[in-house]
Amino acid sequence: MLQSVIGRDKSPPEISLIVPMYNEEENCDLFFDTVEPILENLDPDYEIVCVNDGSRDRTFERLLAHRSRNPRIKVVNLSRNFGKEAALTAGLDLATGRAVVPIDADLQDPPELLADMVAAWRAGAQVVLARRIDRSSDSPLKRATSAGFYYVLARMAQPAMPNNVGDFRLMDRTVVEALKRLPERSRFMKGLFAWVGYRQVTIDYVRQPRAAGATKFNYLKLWNFALDGIVSFSSFPLKVWSYFGFLVSVLAVGFMVFLVVRTLLTGIEVPGYASTMSVILFFNGMVMISLGVIGEYVSRIFVEVKGRPIYLINEIDGFDGAPGYAPVPGATRLVEPT
Ligand code: UDP
Ligand code: MG
Repeated sequence: MLQSVIGRDKSPPEISLIVPMYNEEENCDLFFDTVEPILENLDPDYEIVCVNDGSRDRTFERLLAHRSRNPRIKVVNLSRNFGKEAALTAGLDLATGRAVVPIDADLQDPPELLADMVAAWRAGAQVVLARRIDRSSDSPLKRATSAGFYYVLARMAQPAMPNNVGDFRLMDRTVVEALKRLPERSRFMKGLFAWVGYRQVTIDYVRQPRAAGATKFNYLKLWNFALDGIVSFSSFPLKVWSYFGFLVSVLAVGFMVFLVVRTLLTGIEVPGYASTMSVILFFNGMVMISLGVIGEYVSRIFVEVKGRPIYLINEIDGFDGAPGYAPVPGATRLVEPT
């Protein structure tokens, strides 16, 4: 077996697509039907790394069926649902292509753009960003909340993150290797992508409606996702309280002097229940908010300190024999290398 693995000294594919999939059985067939001819045209030396993120439907079976039809489709089965960011990380770790493109399974990221992306990459770009110029396929509420989020993020995050770009982008192998060196467990991919930098080029596209099925992100998930983005890439919320506290203290000293002087001049005045209560309530609220903000950071420190793996792989199929590839410890190979 070892002999055959060594014997097959395959060079890495030119292009890797990474597709995180969570309950996407309805999109599977359409996805491959659309993407394969495009890749075939671009460069027949491609791979499609499909990461099944603990789907509860028959996505995994569909993927295996497609793999037996086209060996360029490779399948990773995570042990449960870890979330899109973790699934993407698994794909990035396993993909071997010289250019790597994460893409959604629901065809919201138009695969037709791949040709332009690859052209820009061949012309020397290390990252080709796909920017959504028209999101009319998303609901008005989603567009408004996402605009608000990007506004806040653009002002707080270090380094600045490009507006309206998602995970759909082409990355050169250099960039992927750089990303793999970021060990953090809060995988806010847009932020990590921005952090690594490199030569970037932007292409505009129009966001398509979902091919089939429903979005996997509800507003609670999006809120947590937004918090993750801000907390992981900005310490502003943590620091702002010292400035706020300083300002309040200065005002309080002024007020204190005023009270002392007034008491000396006009004597003791007892009423003042309403003003005292509102000051106490307001500042208790502020103290709780600031503690909550610290809690957001501490909970992330807690997660980082535990150092658990970002994802667990249960089964893999198709990754044997790639140069430099270390088999995933504990993962079942569905097909032994021949
Ligand atoms: N996804 C995933 N794990 C999850 C949620 C989503 O792998 O826990 C995948 C999903 O199958 C799809 C991509 O991430 O390929 C984008 O998800 P979705 O279309 O639901 O997000 P939206 O386009 O609404 O932002
Ligand atoms: Mg989608």
